[in-house]
Amino acid sequence: MAASVQGADRRSAGTRYAGVPLAVLAGTLVVTLLLDRQESFEPPWLLPLLNGVFLTGIPGLIAYLAVRAYVATGVPSVLAIGTGMVATSVGCGVVPGLLIALAGPNAGVTVHNIGALVAGAALVAAVLAGPTRVPAWNRRLYMVLAAYGVTALGMLLVIALAMASRTPAFLVPGVGMTPLREVVLGTAAAAFAYAGLTWWQVWQRNRDMTFLRWYALALGLFALGLGAVLTQPTTGSPVVWVGRVAQFTSAVYFLLAVREAAPTGPRAARGPGGLGASLIQSALVYRPMVESLAEVLISLNRSGAALYWNAMAERVFGMATVDIVGRPVAELIAAPGRVEAVATAFDEAIAEAHRGTASVREVDVVDARGRPFPAEIVMHAPDGASGVHVCLLRDITERKQAEAAILELNDSLEARVEERTARLEAANLDLETFSYSVSHDLRAPLRAITGFAEILDRRYRSRLDAKGAHYLDQIIDGGAHMSVLINDLLDYSRLGRLLVRREAVALDPILERLREVFSERVAAGGSIEVVVPLASPMADPTLLHEIVANLLDNALTYARPGVPARARISAIRDDGRVTVAVADNGIGIAPEHRDRIFDVFVRLHRADEYPGTGIGLATVRKAARLMGTDVTVESVPGVGSTFSVVLEAAATDGQAL
Ligand code: ADP
Repeated sequence: MAASVQGADRRSAGTRYAGVPLAVLAGTLVVTLLLDRQESFEPPWLLPLLNGVFLTGIPGLIAYLAVRAYVATGVPSVLAIGTGMVATSVGCGVVPGLLIALAGPNAGVTVHNIGALVAGAALVAAVLAGPTRVPAWNRRLYMVLAAYGVTALGMLLVIALAMASRTPAFLVPGVGMTPLREVVLGTAAAAFAYAGLTWWQVWQRNRDMTFLRWYALALGLFALGLGAVLTQPTTGSPVVWVGRVAQFTSAVYFLLAVREAAPTGPRAARGPGGLGASLIQSALVYRPMVESLAEVLISLNRSGAALYWNAMAERVFGMATVDIVGRPVAELIAAPGRVEAVATAFDEAIAEAHRGTASVREVDVVDARGRPFPAEIVMHAPDGASGVHVCLLRDITERKQAEAAILELNDSLEARVEERTARLEAANLDLETFSYSVSHDLRAPLRAITGFAEILDRRYRSRLDAKGAHYLDQIIDGGAHMSVLINDLLDYSRLGRLLVRREAVALDPILERLREVFSERVAAGGSIEVVVPLASPMADPTLLHEIVANLLDNALTYARPGVPARARISAIRDDGRVTVAVADNGIGIAPEHRDRIFDVFVRLHRADEYPGTGIGLATVRKAARLMGTDVTVESVPGVGSTFSVVLEAAATDGQAL
């Protein structure tokens, strides 16, 4: 804030008397019109003095300042302006007067007119050179030497040739001005006018760059001055004075422009960046860039007061740049009731930008039409002592909507998954209830079939012939198989209906019972080995019993022909977990079947090879999953298989129970 107020004060002080030169010019015009046109006012000391001050001294000073500004900034326009000032200083100042005295009027007029032409060309070049590339720092001095040197030497050459009367005639004494002089001076005037008009237009687009106004005015007045001289056939006529005063006035405005363009701070004013070189670059290059940006760009000072905002910001927030200067940005843009929050966000972003951390914040703002919208601000801290922060502001309505949609979708997805799961569970329960009741209801008719088949067997077998006896055997076998199948199915479907418990389970009692169940198989040559000690897992005792029973059954069943079946049961504790494993020395399982065998009714063998129902491993898997774990198998065909279930270890070991 302080900087901009200072700048405004300085500007008003600098421009307070800016109208005086114009008033002098107008006064000259009036006096000239009142005077007798034939009477010329030409004291011999006056013109050299004025020319020396205004047309040699001031342009020379500006040329010098331009060197410093160019070396500091490398802006090509500044070099061209300086070059124009060199041509003016050498060609249009004291030199023509001296030449008139030394070598006659033609020499003086020739040098003046050519000087004006060269200056005009350089100042047009300054307009055109705006956006070109900035040369490296160490090459700039050479550029200055080349531009100034060539101009100065060229002008000296013209002076020398004019003195030696080797230049074409610009003025023939007694006759008047030649057409050549009209063309040269006319072109010079046009060049000044063109440059003046162009900068005037640039100023129109960048109203705060007041130095451009003075600069454009200076160029215009110089063009006017040259034009006035052009209309006069002889030197010394009163109207010539109007032209001269216009040129002197122009020099004053050149100086005013230089003063206006000098950087604001005391340190910067001393520095070499004068003449607003960077301002010119900014007007021609950076400003249009910022203004054409489709993003809102705000520059503000450390306390959050606005210094400038671009055209997009004007459009979005409906306030002109000139109206926002010095006002807190938060108050300008915050949505109703959000001023405090927005101010805090800006303060935090500024502080973070100074620390060099990511300074991105979300704020609630309101646009020109009163529509509140969420925005994201990205703050950049100044890299010098300027105190100017740059803030990029982006409308994030769409992103917010997308985020909200995703959240909503997530919620509804979860709800849908829950609903599906519930439906699936219900369907599963239905299926289990159904298979349970079917199996259950099938038992009565099956009992009737097997019961009567047994009676038939006992009482009537002797009366049956061989074929009849065979059919009866088939009925009895089928009935027995069906009975096993129904029992297995009942076991399987009953699992899902249980409430799963979770407790420390000792495996020894389970194995004791199972030894009894399988005692016949052991007597027939099989063996059950228990690896002690048996660790206790946290499990449901019934489910664990089902698992071990089914695995043990298979281990004793799928033996290699001629090799006695050996089942080996272990429960090993490791790192808070217990692996319950049943290993055998049987036929093994080919890798391609290792997943399928856990599905219901999947059997790899015919009933006459190995008896079974295809429900055992499905029961094992279901029991394991009900306890939140799973069953895995490792197997080498022809060597044996190991089925394992990993459970959480119980705090107290099964041994102790
Ligand atoms: P069942 O044993 O009643 O046929 P399971 O579901 O228990 O049904 O087993 C499915 C199939 O997996 C069996 O038919 C058998 O081919 C194979 N299988 C199961 N356990 C073993 C094992 N320990 N060794 C070799 N094959 C096995």
